[in-house]
Amino acid sequence: MTRSKREPAVITPETIAHARVHLAHDVAVRAGEYVLYWLRAYRRAEDNLALDHAIVRANSLGIPLLVVESLDVRYPYASDRMHAFVLESAVDRAAVLALRGAQYCFYLPRTREEITRDRPLDLLAQRAALVVSDWYPACGPMAKFWDETPRALGQRAGVRVELIDDAVVVPMALLCEKHEHAARTIRPKVQRRLEVSLTESQSPTVTQRGVIAHEVPHTAVTREGIDALIAACAIDHTVPRVRATEGSREQARARLQRLLTQRLGHYSARRNDMGVEGSSALSAHLHFGVLSVREVARAVRGAEGVTREERDAFVEELVVRRSLAFNHVMTEPRHTEYDGGVPAWARETLATASKDSRTAHTFAQWEQSLTSSPLWNCAQRELVRDGVIQPYARMLWGKLAIAMAESPAQAFAWLIALNDKWALDGRDPNTYTNIAWCFGLHDHPYPTQKVFGSLRSMTAAAAARKWDVQAYAARLGMSLPRKL
Ligand SMILES: Cc1cc2nc3c(=O)[nH]c(=O)nc-3n(C[C@H](O)[C@H](O)[C@H](O)COP(=O)(O)OP(=O)(O)OC[C@H]3O[C@@H](n4cnc5c(N)ncnc54)[C@H](O)[C@@H]3O)c2cc1C
Repeated sequence: MTRSKREPAVITPETIAHARVHLAHDVAVRAGEYVLYWLRAYRRAEDNLALDHAIVRANSLGIPLLVVESLDVRYPYASDRMHAFVLESAVDRAAVLALRGAQYCFYLPRTREEITRDRPLDLLAQRAALVVSDWYPACGPMAKFWDETPRALGQRAGVRVELIDDAVVVPMALLCEKHEHAARTIRPKVQRRLEVSLTESQSPTVTQRGVIAHEVPHTAVTREGIDALIAACAIDHTVPRVRATEGSREQARARLQRLLTQRLGHYSARRNDMGVEGSSALSAHLHFGVLSVREVARAVRGAEGVTREERDAFVEELVVRRSLAFNHVMTEPRHTEYDGGVPAWARETLATASKDSRTAHTFAQWEQSLTSSPLWNCAQRELVRDGVIQPYARMLWGKLAIAMAESPAQAFAWLIALNDKWALDGRDPNTYTNIAWCFGLHDHPYPTQKVFGSLRSMTAAAAARKWDVQAYAARLGMSLPRKL
């Protein structure tokens, strides 16, 4: 699905809209009972350009729209944590979709056998004139699902499948002509197209309504029923639900409001400050598409009483860094492997760096926060407890890990394994790109040091000089020795 599209010199809304469309299975639209919108990556019924596209297609064909969403027990790392977040996001979806005139089916299989028996997507796609779905780059353990599954469905059902890119802001087809070296190389490409790509959803509604009868079982999701639903699923029950972070759009909008009114004004100074909670805490909602990156970017750019510098600092993370992360996974298929994700100069320097200060631990010691680095243990505790890590602590978590494994390659693999399993915002382009950043990706050489070679180094002692790390540990119910 990775490809770049020719773009005329003048950037218009039409060229951007065109660049959002990826054809997963290119056959003509056929006579069918409905347009099927397969909701996969963007778990929202509002401000969703893929859904808008499906509604416009249904209206032009004069047929109804059926929206199907499923939550598969076969997803890698399916657990109580991820299932609960998605189910929380789905509580109000039927009602919002009904307002837009669409029929909705939420399919929640309990076991692998149920999916094989029900074959929900095949059944529904066979009767569709066209399938529309949301586009996401092939990345991490879900690569096949994002990339191959829609194509395979189109082939099996003989139906056209269109995927719409509403993943960042500027369509990624325009930003993946080559592997970008750093934020500075992709920034002008993003900025040039930013304004016109911040398309507002027109929120169309379906004109042709009517009840579509089908045999796919629908699960009604209520807030109170979520614990019972996940308990019945054959998923990993050792990764518990994070009660403080809910997948609901209500919570996502409340966090966005908090950002605008309380945090954005001090964002550049406090984002990294481990002693306070200064960032948006929106990464899980953005990962699961509960909020669109466009709506957050629009809100931040329009925020009143906040300096231009602060607004730009946030958009830099949200749009430029995120686009860079997507560019990396799209142009480097081996991004989950040390030899693929980490640049050659960094692997060389790490291979020859002095190993004196390395203390190898086991994976279990890492996972249970039992390493010799108390500050690293705090960050790991945060990941296990809250499903995210404070932005600066997350960089430390990645950097300090290099000194705590048999080899840098092992550290790289274990960081990915932990993040994939425990992070609510994990299994994302941001995951693999940022872990690789800790190993030199998108960075440049520094004066040589032990363990890190010429990689940018970070230490717990330096973090403690800079930030109130005791306050950070206290938030996690942990304590730190005075000297780190
Ligand atoms: C080792 C390591 C692993 C990481 N793993 C993930 C991950 O699995 N998922 C994830 O979303 N981010 C990851 N990041 C990037 C970053 O740390 C998080 O996005 C951020 O901490 C999320 O908190 P926030 O929403 O409060 O961020 P804010 O500072 O409020 O930023 C707003 C949004 O901008 C985006 N963003 C921020 N920083 C980056 C960045 N460096 N690269 C790309 N996008 C960014 C995110 O979507 C974030 O939610 C990782 C960073 C490191 C160093």
